[in-house]
Amino acid sequence: MAHPYVVNPRLFSAHAGSSLFRSAMGAVAALVLGIGMLGSAACTVNPVTGKTQLDFMGETQEIQLGKNLYPRYTQQSLGEVPDPRLEAYVDRVGLKLARVSQRPQLPWTYNAVNDPEVNAYALPGGKISITRGLLSRLDNEDELAAVLGHETGHVNARHAAQAYTRQVLAQLALLGAGIYMDAHGTRNARLYTVAGMLGMQLMFASYSRNQERQADQLGFEYMTKAGYNPEGMVGVMRILLHEGKAQPSLLRRMFADHPMSSERLATAEASVAAEPPAVRTRPIRSQRFLAAVRHIRETRPAYDRFAKARRLLARKKTAEAESLLEESVAEWPDDGLLRGYLAGAEAEDGKLERAMQDAQRAGDNAPHIFVVQMLAGKIFLRAKRYAAAVPFFDNASRILPNLPEVELLRGEALEGAGRTREAARAYEKVRRLAPGSDASAEASRRLRSLGMATAK
Ligand SMILES: [Zn+2]
Repeated sequence: MAHPYVVNPRLFSAHAGSSLFRSAMGAVAALVLGIGMLGSAACTVNPVTGKTQLDFMGETQEIQLGKNLYPRYTQQSLGEVPDPRLEAYVDRVGLKLARVSQRPQLPWTYNAVNDPEVNAYALPGGKISITRGLLSRLDNEDELAAVLGHETGHVNARHAAQAYTRQVLAQLALLGAGIYMDAHGTRNARLYTVAGMLGMQLMFASYSRNQERQADQLGFEYMTKAGYNPEGMVGVMRILLHEGKAQPSLLRRMFADHPMSSERLATAEASVAAEPPAVRTRPIRSQRFLAAVRHIRETRPAYDRFAKARRLLARKKTAEAESLLEESVAEWPDDGLLRGYLAGAEAEDGKLERAMQDAQRAGDNAPHIFVVQMLAGKIFLRAKRYAAAVPFFDNASRILPNLPEVELLRGEALEGAGRTREAARAYEKVRRLAPGSDASAEASRRLRSLGMATAK
């Protein structure tokens, strides 16, 4: 039971090494190099400070980087919350802030993602996400505006662009040194984490304390300009401080720093006190907000258990995770994400028949969530039900195209189902996507065993 979601350990071990990551990072490197970010550092004017600064990319490149990272980050965060009304609402609130900010012309998008942890993050170029875990803990639109305003501040002050640039450069350096795998953790961790399923390690940007202070200040400015009650910022800081004490593990990047949380709360309180009474006494908007988040508030206990279960799975405490997930699924039987993870835990526990039933239903209920499609595909592959596995890998490949890991598994399912020519095309794709990698070597080996010639 070393690696639960994998039918064929050899298949995974063959490309669990740094090479797969290298290929994925290769794509990022190509993007970065292609847009001339390296070696062409230029002086640009910081939109917030108005000062000239040394920068690695211009606005066009920044937008392109965000656009390229966005699908993978959204899927790493377990996909968009399947509630179009909520998505539209979050976007509308965010756009009100963007419009009064220093860079209204960016292609801003704001979305809510299924991650049950308490978090929010910004990608360069104006792509901002808030997690279900945080959203379900807020009480009104003014608090939502505070969170989105803070993230908008990170983008406008170019913190996000700088952090992701640093991250890409650091990963490229590690790859150059060939030491990435050591930091990447074990093969098992890869199977349980979405990052592993994505075939690459995605990280949230980390900001300095000064950058956090600046983002708070900018967020406060935007929300006040947009007509919100700045008390919302205080509310958010209280929630974060409380969550940090109650469940430190639930908190990620944005608010991970506890001493800073109390400082930030004090700053927010002082800022509110400095505003004129007309601003301080603005009505708090909770009615529209509560209507929009009704479902995610109702499902919060189930998703809090889900958060716990994911941590248990990562520590191989399968039985405990399974019972938490069962409880959540009993409550929300049509939630594909919860049921998908339950299926995974069942498969890990050797209950393959039940796992397949749950995987099928989960896959049908969550057609847009990459991790669910991957789990379902792997479970059917494990049961050697190749034909049933194919549609799930097809979906995964549609959601996030061009991941060598997905194409290799898809090839295996197609091959098992007797669809040899399509399998060969999938293996050829792996070779094109990740030349020189272990995944490519495995694809070549499989092509040869199919009797297909492999040049190179
Ligand atoms: Zn921040």
